[in-house]
Amino acid sequence: MAVPSDAAQRAEQLRRQLQQAGYAYYVLDDPIFPDGVYDALYRELQALETAHPELIRPDSPTQRVGDRPANQFPSHRHAIPLYSLENAFDQGELQQWQERWQRQGEKLLGELPTFDYVCELKIDGSALALTYEEGVLTRGVTRGDGTTGEEITQNIRTIRTIPLRLAVENPPPLVEVRGEAFLPLGEFERINQERAAGGEPLFANPRNAAAGTLRQLDPQVVDRRRLEFFPYTLHLPNHPPLKTQWESLELLQQFGFRINPHCQRCPDLAAVWAYFEAWEQKRHHLPYMTDGVVLKLNPIPLQTELGFTQKFPRWAIALKYPAEEVSTTVKAITVNVGRTGAVTPMAIMEPVAVAGTTVQRATLHNADRIVELDIRVGDTVIIRKAGEIIPEVVRVLPDLRPAGTVPFVMPSHCPECASPLVRPQTEAVTRCVNPQCPAIVRGAIEHWASRDALDIQGLGEKWVAQLVRSGLVASLDQLYTLTPEQLLTLERMGQKSAANLVGAIAASKAQPYARVLYGLGIRHVGKVNAEMLTQAFPTVAQLAAARVTDLEAIHGIGGEIAQAVYDWFRTPHHQALIENLQSLGLCFAQPEGKSSGQGAIAPLTKIVGQSFVITGTLPTLSRKEAQTLIEQAGGKVASAVSSKINYLVVGDKPGSKLTKAQQLGIPQLEERELRQLLE
Ligand code: NAD
Repeated sequence: MAVPSDAAQRAEQLRRQLQQAGYAYYVLDDPIFPDGVYDALYRELQALETAHPELIRPDSPTQRVGDRPANQFPSHRHAIPLYSLENAFDQGELQQWQERWQRQGEKLLGELPTFDYVCELKIDGSALALTYEEGVLTRGVTRGDGTTGEEITQNIRTIRTIPLRLAVENPPPLVEVRGEAFLPLGEFERINQERAAGGEPLFANPRNAAAGTLRQLDPQVVDRRRLEFFPYTLHLPNHPPLKTQWESLELLQQFGFRINPHCQRCPDLAAVWAYFEAWEQKRHHLPYMTDGVVLKLNPIPLQTELGFTQKFPRWAIALKYPAEEVSTTVKAITVNVGRTGAVTPMAIMEPVAVAGTTVQRATLHNADRIVELDIRVGDTVIIRKAGEIIPEVVRVLPDLRPAGTVPFVMPSHCPECASPLVRPQTEAVTRCVNPQCPAIVRGAIEHWASRDALDIQGLGEKWVAQLVRSGLVASLDQLYTLTPEQLLTLERMGQKSAANLVGAIAASKAQPYARVLYGLGIRHVGKVNAEMLTQAFPTVAQLAAARVTDLEAIHGIGGEIAQAVYDWFRTPHHQALIENLQSLGLCFAQPEGKSSGQGAIAPLTKIVGQSFVITGTLPTLSRKEAQTLIEQAGGKVASAVSSKINYLVVGDKPGSKLTKAQQLGIPQLEERELRQLLE
């Protein structure tokens, strides 16, 4: 079958891009991509080459063990090549690897011998091969391209954790030790600070810093940068073979090396996976970088039987932790209309695993961002998902752009209701301003029903979409006149669910005023602001009549919020909505006689509107931090003690404020008590 021309073109682009990245990474120690991106592009090329073997070229990065040495030092050919490691990113790939070596093992041996695994942390440094003759270190060589490395013996001698002489009485005549040289994180930071001060370019990560340091021409510079070393394997030519990897590690220890203390024997893949998972978080507390776990078959005779592929040992694999930045391709660019009418462009991408989850949509924020990125359908992009943050496109890789792409243009009309979109000159956001737009109505209802607002159980995205599509609900008040019979016309709605939903909607009438106000979805009015507004204006009539200056007078309500609230109540459509909701029995006033805001967003009510003064040094919070926490919860912080103050927060060495507060009988709080109050 002929190779499709776009596959051939893509493979060629990927090869060029990976070669460039590999050169920057291995030779210059100055990567142009995060590792996750390199790995994703590499796997894409691998997949293309597997599907179309005719595309494989001898110079493809998939056919090389490493990259060429930098030629600064004499080159040395390794007696046994230093192989790379195959990668696995999930349990499925790990299982497949086990099945593969077991099939191979059975074929070679007739039956599988008993086996176990050794798990080692994958240290993110630079591989070294050290030769000891008659127990004395005579040569140290980098991995280079796996076949030939650079001889950097002088530099290696500076590493304190590498013994210059093996610590045994009668050492074997020839020993080769292999392991990872690395820079501890503290040292990496110190070097980068030094480089920043000297105006030198910073190292991208400890691995490149270690590789760069090993290749320094001046051994004194190497000596100052405290490299360390963990060995992981050894070769003993003309010596009876060792039985296990574990035994090798023990022997290395006897030779005077420090081995990584976290190596562990595991009977099966379940134990391996448990080790991998246990280290996912713990590794962040180690003083060096790790990017995964190296899993090796423990019995050495079995390793010897299985041997190597062109690039990897068949008896070992690197299990990598998920990357936070990876690459993928853009299948489409769509726009999404939110509940405020904001139109957000989204990239729909080829699904890709990033930071532990599969991602296929990423926000492109707004029209300006699209122009800045110049993102097009068909592009290869780098996406990031750090921690809990929504995935976003970091940049486009123009070298991988297919022919014939066109720039994306924001639509001029709403994709949901076809009304013209507007973009105020002062804003980056494009909006649909049609209040009847189905997207806006859906968003408004979802927000109204959400947990912090009216908390209507069972009214999720799915039903909201159907209610709006069917025309049963076009505004919030219409929720309250829905009958079970009407609900039964919706797809997959049963008798019981219909009755429950009507019940849950009716029950929401008991929710307090602050939740109702928050549920209306007025721009900038979050939970805390809604609470403050209901405290200051105990009925909706008072709030609706408030002027911008009255609103601004509330502590914590700024000009933008005040204007948004004022404008909202000036819209006839909103006035009618309030009237309808009120006549349907929703709560638009603070309960009389009760302490303000009771029953509403509970934790906040305790200190909303209360005044605090802080004196002395608090055990963990700075004054500013304590003030921010109080204000975020709706309280105020004053500078002087007066009878209007509700609490004095007292730290170490309090000033005269304490005496004054005592005279006035103002309650005092320690930091711990303040925190309890804020919880
Ligand atoms: P690798 O780093 O994935 O794995 C092999 C290496 O692991 C060995 O050479 C050894 O140095 C190291 N290692 C650490 N602990 C070990 C242990 N206990 N036992 C055995 N080995 C151990 O493979 P590689 O071929 O060195 O490099 C490929 C990786 O380099 C890719 O995964 C990629 O992320 C990165 N890379 C990145 C870029 C870029 O542009 N960012 C470019 C090229 C390569």
